Amino acid sequence: MIIAKRKHVALVAHDNKKADLLEWVKFNKYLLSLHELYGTGTTGKLIEQELGLKINKLKSGPLGGDMQIGAKISNGEIDLLIFFWDPLESLPHDPDIKALLRMAVVWNIPVACNRSTADFIISSTLMDTEYKRILPDYDNYRQRKIL
Ligand code: PGA
Repeated sequence: MIIAKRKHVALVAHDNKKADLLEWVKFNKYLLSLHELYGTGTTGKLIEQELGLKINKLKSGPLGGDMQIGAKISNGEIDLLIFFWDPLESLPHDPDIKALLRMAVVWNIPVACNRSTADFIISSTLMDTEYKRILPDYDNYRQRKIL
């Protein structure tokens, strides 16, 4: 699958990590502005308010936003996930968080769960070119014999 130069980037942060993400987005505002941005409801609203970047806002994470992003990943509509999840608090939508991270792995998209990984990704030369993303071959899985 060819990923265009202008990437579809999803931004999600849990409440205790929102300040961290905002700071990171602020620092990388220009680079991020070259791409199409998506976010869960509250994260997206904050980024728009604080930094004036246009974000395609989905529902708030615990209200289905994580799952909407997961669905977009499985549809090939998100190329990269920046997801600052909170490692020190358990949240009511833990299954959705796990599902979102799982979709990123299932569909082989880059995912940053902390700032240093996000730094490495945003400064990659691949952010500025087309990228041929290998789509895992799930045919054997689809055709597995059940009965
Ligand atoms: P929020 O959702 O941006 O709406 O707070 C984040 C999340 O918990 O996934």
